[in-house]
Amino acid sequence: MTHKEKAKQLLQQQYHCSQALFGAFADDLSLDLKTIFKISTCFGGGMRHGGTCGCITASLLVLGMVLGFYDAQDKESEIYGNSKTEEFIRLFTEKMDGYINCRDILGKDISNPKDMAIVRKEGLILKKCSKVLEISIEILEDILKNYLKDISESSINLEDIPVNNDIQSMFKDLRKLNCFKRSVNNLLFYSSKEIGFIQFDIRKFKIVNDLYGEKFGDEVLDFIIKQLQHICNEKQFYINLRSDVFMVVMEYDDEKELVDFINLLDSRINFFKNVKLQISYGIYTVEDKNMELRQMEDRAAMARKAAKSSILTNILFYKEQFKESLYNRKFIEENMQSAITEKQFLMYLQPKYSILKNKIIGAEALIRWKHPERGMIYPDQFIPIIEENGFIRKADYYIWDKACRFIKRCKDEGIMSCPISVNVSRIHLQDNECIQILSNMIEINQIPKHLLELEITETADDKQISKKALQLKEEGFTLLMDDFGSGYSSLNILLETPFDVIKLDKKFIENMMVSTKGKLILEQIVSMADKLNLGLLAEGVETREQVELLKSIGCDQVQGYYYAKPIPEDEFFEILKKQ
Ligand code: C2E
Ligand code: CA
Ligand code: CA
Repeated sequence: MTHKEKAKQLLQQQYHCSQALFGAFADDLSLDLKTIFKISTCFGGGMRHGGTCGCITASLLVLGMVLGFYDAQDKESEIYGNSKTEEFIRLFTEKMDGYINCRDILGKDISNPKDMAIVRKEGLILKKCSKVLEISIEILEDILKNYLKDISESSINLEDIPVNNDIQSMFKDLRKLNCFKRSVNNLLFYSSKEIGFIQFDIRKFKIVNDLYGEKFGDEVLDFIIKQLQHICNEKQFYINLRSDVFMVVMEYDDEKELVDFINLLDSRINFFKNVKLQISYGIYTVEDKNMELRQMEDRAAMARKAAKSSILTNILFYKEQFKESLYNRKFIEENMQSAITEKQFLMYLQPKYSILKNKIIGAEALIRWKHPERGMIYPDQFIPIIEENGFIRKADYYIWDKACRFIKRCKDEGIMSCPISVNVSRIHLQDNECIQILSNMIEINQIPKHLLELEITETADDKQISKKALQLKEEGFTLLMDDFGSGYSSLNILLETPFDVIKLDKKFIENMMVSTKGKLILEQIVSMADKLNLGLLAEGVETREQVELLKSIGCDQVQGYYYAKPIPEDEFFEILKKQ
């Protein structure tokens, strides 16, 4: 039965409008009719004195109970809730042409027994209130539907609330969820043991669906529920949060029990009809039982997602870092596009110096993201993420373009020609686009090619680097090997790739400087670079002592805080002008 049908039925059984409306949602709120009637009886007094229509009061109560916004601890949901109450009243008033008081709607003063007798006799409640009930329910259903859509799109916290376009099954899911939450709250409250949240989902469930069909996908989910039914005892609660995401909450003494539970479950569900299912499990062990439930769910979800992207394991316990990294990732992904369109990416330039001449000999272009609300965001916080999703291409093109314009600006203003090096993410080395783009930029700005230098970081796959670097070299670009000594097979790359300059990594220099042996190695690298006709630049130089040592072994080019930090391009331009 729909909400409207239920409400109408109750009205016909002589219940007043607030009872009928609230009663129509009884199942959804997991309340029995008796309780519902007891609560709504309280509204009667107000209505009898010509107060606002009982449909309003009852609707607000439904909203409150579904959205849960009468929570003084949670400002955010309180504000959200308040905005929804206001929305309801506004829409209701609009649709009722301003007639929102009982007296106006019925045309009788129901506090007056004579009037009330007429209302009864003429069946005015059934005649006039049915329509009001219908209007209220329509508005309510709309608000609730949008609410569920809203939160599933905008918040990580509540993404696990089921979304469904059909209001009846939406409430069915919500009922299950409420029941699950109640059980979990009870467990948290009454259990003297530790409590663990296990959340899991199927890796590449989409592909399972695509390969074997959605019907098969549904069967898989039913199968998992059956297995959960089978192995969970009365104190182990489970729910299918949405699609292929499940959660189990259980008590334990030793964390091993949680892992044992997962292993048992996994042995039962990792195969369905000969199809291998890979499941990722995240575990959150509750430290503070008073924490909000959704925060606990959230943490289990973060652990699950981390397990999903791990190649080492499919079971992970929650760690504090997950939280930050997940929020950060979401922020970056949602804001990166506008960073370009709204010109939030800036080019900072860090001068490179010659120790002997004590002069600027070039600069490295380093990206900065100045977000209007979050302030300055540094590359370490967003480069790894945009490298993963490919957006680094756009960001790099943006900075390369700025570097070219800067070189042109120097040229136009007759200032010394200053080479600018830009970072070339390894992502570019997978395709041919970057060569074309770089050449175009140089062409458009009419600048000498040798003034735009390219920094490439050594990586595990040196074959790939070598191939692309060779092509860039053939095009006439100057290549700098970034972070030399920080990782992989630096020396191999030197053999295969025609780099022009080696940039010694900051850590590498630090490590080498602490021992005589290390200093000897540094000396040999300087000598090697010399013999191979390679330029050498020391990065991350911070102290006088480092400068002295580098000078003594014949490494003249340096970049680091000792000389200058990365600075806005205009500032660098002024310095160049003076030099
Ligand atoms: P990188 O290419 O090795 O750049 C040098 C980093 O060391 C810069 O960090 C710079 O600010 C920092 N640095 C310079 N001198 C010193 C020093 O004396 N002490 C210390 N502690 N640090 C120093 P930044 O700007 O945060 O950039 C970090 C990394 O992000 C860069 O490392 C580079 O790999 C990447 N990156 C920055 N801008 C871009 C870009 O436009 N495109 C790409 N693909 N990567 C970029
Ligand atoms: Ca660099
Ligand atoms: Ca570097």
